[in-house]
Amino acid sequence: MRGGFSGDELGDIRQERNFDLSQNTTYGAGGNADIAYFPQSEEEAVKVFESLINQNRKFFVLGRGSDILASDKGFDGCVISTKYLKSISYNGGVLTAQSGVTVASLLEFCKNFGLGGLEFLAGIPATVGGLAFMNGGALNSYIGDKIVSVTLYDGKLRKIPQKLCDFGYKHSTMRNINCLILSVELKVEQCESQKVASKIKKVLKLRSKQPKGRSCGCVFKNPRGGYAGKLIEECGLKGYKFGGAQVSEKHANFIINNNGSSDDIFRLISFVKRRVYEIKGVLLEEEVVYIGDFNETYG
Ligand SMILES: Cc1cc2nc3c(=O)[nH]c(=O)nc-3n(C[C@H](O)[C@H](O)[C@H](O)COP(=O)(O)OP(=O)(O)OC[C@H]3O[C@@H](n4cnc5c(N)ncnc54)[C@H](O)[C@@H]3O)c2cc1C
Repeated sequence: MRGGFSGDELGDIRQERNFDLSQNTTYGAGGNADIAYFPQSEEEAVKVFESLINQNRKFFVLGRGSDILASDKGFDGCVISTKYLKSISYNGGVLTAQSGVTVASLLEFCKNFGLGGLEFLAGIPATVGGLAFMNGGALNSYIGDKIVSVTLYDGKLRKIPQKLCDFGYKHSTMRNINCLILSVELKVEQCESQKVASKIKKVLKLRSKQPKGRSCGCVFKNPRGGYAGKLIEECGLKGYKFGGAQVSEKHANFIINNNGSSDDIFRLISFVKRRVYEIKGVLLEEEVVYIGDFNETYG
């Protein structure tokens, strides 16, 4: 075990040593983390967070891993997985979802209980916690618009009202602090179940045109007043390959992993970034979150 960390005080928490990040991210690439903890309740999640902070351990919080590129060398630290924080409830116009609730289960709940307003999220392979952290969304709507409050732990338990979350494009206050989002309150409207189901279906139909294969969705944030995908395409990079990684022929802001390594993906991201800067003078910024060490000299 690296760093002399025994993790004994967390012995009663579900855990997995040598946690394979390639099996737990949508890119399907990357090495192992030392250990992953799977708290089964918010209390357990706080206990893990607190213990890792006290022991000065490196860690990160993992949702569905749909916006993460993990280094092939792995991660010399711990993972807190929100996988089992998955309860959902509804009361008086507000839906409360724990951070590990997936979009699919959230929308299933909305469909069953006739709750509308979140259909735009359909098809995003994410958790509620990951979406709140990134202020994810689609079709010009973002989860931040629907959030009433975010409950998180950052050494203290806090319930942050929407207006203090500083939601912006791919941004939230939570990105600036080391925190674990425990649950989120979302505004919903009562609506016929059938209407909710049909809106979800429409959104899924629109999304079916997106590139298939292993990816993180859009790799880069859109620059102010433009589209990263358009810039990449105009630089002639559609279809460009590096090992098993390829710029999608369908949508240039998607990089698809065809059995490649994280190094392949990282090299391709770096190359695309450099070419767009050289040709267009625009420095693209990654939306994807890097975990572990990557060699910055690539590209
Ligand atoms: C095919 C595909 C399509 C996509 N389409 C879209 C889209 O339409 N719109 C969109 O916005 N995104 C899209 N994405 C990207 C991705 O789904 C979002 O960024 C999403 O918000 C990530 O959620 P996650 O649960 O997978 O988080 P992860 O990828 O696991 O984590 C992302 C970041 O959030 C942090 N995090 C996760 N959970 C917590 C928590 N509980 N507390 C604190 N920090 C946390 C992680 O530490 C990490 O920094 C797509 C991805 C794929 C693969």
